[in-house]
Amino acid sequence: MTESPGLIASDSLATFCAGLAGRAIAPGDAEYEVARQVHNASVDRHPGLIVRVANAADVCRTVAFAREGGHRLTVRGGGHSPAGHAVADGAIVVDLSEMRGLELDAGRRRAWAEPGLTAGEYTRSAAAHGLATPLGDTASVGIAGITLSGGIGFLARKHGLTIDHLVSVELVTADGSLLAVSETSHPDLFWAVRGGGGNFGIVTRLQYALQPVDLVLGGALFLPATRDVLRGLVPIAASAPEELTTVALLMPAPPLPFIPAEAHGRPTIAILLVYAGDVEDGQRAVAPFRALARPIADVIRPMPYPAIYELTAEAGRRTPGVQRSLLLDVLEDSKVDTILARMAAPSSPLAMTQVRVLGGAMARVPNAATAFGHRGRSIMVTVITPFADGAERDRHVAWTQDYADALGLHDAGAYAGFLDDEGEARVRSAYPAATYARLAEIKRRYDPDNVFRGNQNIVPAGARRQDGASTGTPAA
Ligand SMILES: Cc1cc2nc3c(=O)[nH]c(=O)nc-3n(C[C@H](O)[C@H](O)[C@H](O)COP(=O)(O)OP(=O)(O)OC[C@H]3O[C@@H](n4cnc5c(N)ncnc54)[C@H](O)[C@@H]3O)c2cc1C
Repeated sequence: MTESPGLIASDSLATFCAGLAGRAIAPGDAEYEVARQVHNASVDRHPGLIVRVANAADVCRTVAFAREGGHRLTVRGGGHSPAGHAVADGAIVVDLSEMRGLELDAGRRRAWAEPGLTAGEYTRSAAAHGLATPLGDTASVGIAGITLSGGIGFLARKHGLTIDHLVSVELVTADGSLLAVSETSHPDLFWAVRGGGGNFGIVTRLQYALQPVDLVLGGALFLPATRDVLRGLVPIAASAPEELTTVALLMPAPPLPFIPAEAHGRPTIAILLVYAGDVEDGQRAVAPFRALARPIADVIRPMPYPAIYELTAEAGRRTPGVQRSLLLDVLEDSKVDTILARMAAPSSPLAMTQVRVLGGAMARVPNAATAFGHRGRSIMVTVITPFADGAERDRHVAWTQDYADALGLHDAGAYAGFLDDEGEARVRSAYPAATYARLAEIKRRYDPDNVFRGNQNIVPAGARRQDGASTGTPAA
C-alpha cells in the first residue's frame, strides 16, 4: 500500500500495517475507489484508511491504533446502511468484508458465522441443510449489520427477528478487548447488541440458532395500484396464518419477462411473500390476495427458501437513494390516500413505498427482552426513493421527508436498521424511553468516549447530546 501522509505519521502506519494479517487500503491505492463505495451511491466519502481485517486480532489492533492516533473509526460489513455509516471522511474503516467463515452444525441447529458474510451467502449455506436463520429481504445486506439492528425479514411472523436467533457474539470493545457475549457472559451487552446497532463494539463472530425451513411457497403477486388493493392487503396479511410474511411495494412495474410489456413502468402493488409451511395451506393463505384484483402477474410457486432473493436482487444494486420509515399500529384510510396521492407525483420515477405487515412470532417476545424497540407495532411503512442523478439529492430528500411527514413520521416509531441520516431525535424514536436510557447507560460503561459513533448513535449516559442538552445523570 502507499502511504497516507495526511492521516498518520508514516512510520507508525507502516508498523501497524506490517502487523496485520489482513491488509490496509489507502487513498491512491488501486482498490481504494471501489473499497470506499457503499450501497447508497449518494454517499461519497473519503476515508483515511480502509483496513480489510482478517481476524479478531486485526480488529483489536485497528481499534487500538485508531484510538492512539485520535482517528475516527467506522465499521463496514455489507455496506448497506442507508446513511452510509460504513465510511466517513478521514476515518479508519474496519472493513470486515473478507471475514466470511461459516461453520454449521446441522444436527444441533447452530451456526458460527463471521461478519463479512452477506445474508444471501449465509442463507444459501444454511438451505443446503434444510435450515434457515431469519434475515432480511435482500441477499447483499451484511449479516452483522442486520443482526445488530434487529433483522426483519420474510420469516418474521413465523420465526421472529434475526436477534431472536442470536445465541452469542464475540465483540471487540472500545478499549480493544475481545469479549464473549451471551445470556450468561456480559448479559447487559448481549441485551444491548440485540437491537442497539454497532454502538457497543465490533462483532467478529456470531452464533445463530437455525430453524427447519426447506421448500416454501414464495414469490410475488403484481396487482393494480388501486385504493382497494392497498386498503385490502393489510388486514388480509395481518389475519393470515403466521407462516405467511408479506412485503408489499407500491412501485412502477419492473420490466421483467413475466410482466406484460404494456404494464412496464406503470404503478403496481407487488406483494412479495413467503409462506413457510405446507404448500397447499400456503395456497389457501394467498387466495385472498389473489381475489383483491385481477393480477398483472402471479409468480407465486413452491421454491427453495433462498430463491425469494432473486426477486429482490435489484434492491441490492448500488444506487443513490434516500429513505424514511415509520412503524405504525394501523394504516388508516387517510394514510392510504396519502400514499396514493404522493406516489402519483414522485420526485423520482424510481420511488416506491413499502408496506410490511409484522406481528406473529416477532411480537410475542417481550419488548424488554432485547433492545429492539417496537415489537408490538404491526406495520412498517418505508418510503424509498432511489434516484439517477446524485446532484439532485436535495430535491429527493425534501420530497421523501415531506411525504413521510404527511404520513405522521413525527409520532411514529422507527426501526434502527431502516434509519437514514435523520438526526438524534429519530434514533431515539427507534426505542421506548426506558430502552434508550438502558442502552445509554450500557454505552457509558463500555464506550464512554463514544468511539463507536459512526452509526445510529446512542449517546453515552451523562454525555452531552449533540443538541447541547445533557442525557441525564448516569445510574450508579
Ligand atoms: C437494499 C436494502 C435492503 C434491506 N433490507 C432489510 C430487511 O429486509 N430487513 C432488515 O431488517 N434490514 C434491512 N435493511 C437494513 C440493513 O439491515 C441495515 O442497514 C444494516 O445495518 C446493514 O448492514 P450492512 O453490514 O450491510 O451495512 P454497513 O453499512 O456495513 O453497516 C451498517 C452499520 O452496522 C454496524 N455494523 C456492521 N457490521 C458490524 C460489526 N461486525 N460489528 C459492529 N457493528 C457493525 C456499524 O455501525 C455500521 O455502520 C436493508 C438495507 C438495504 C440497503
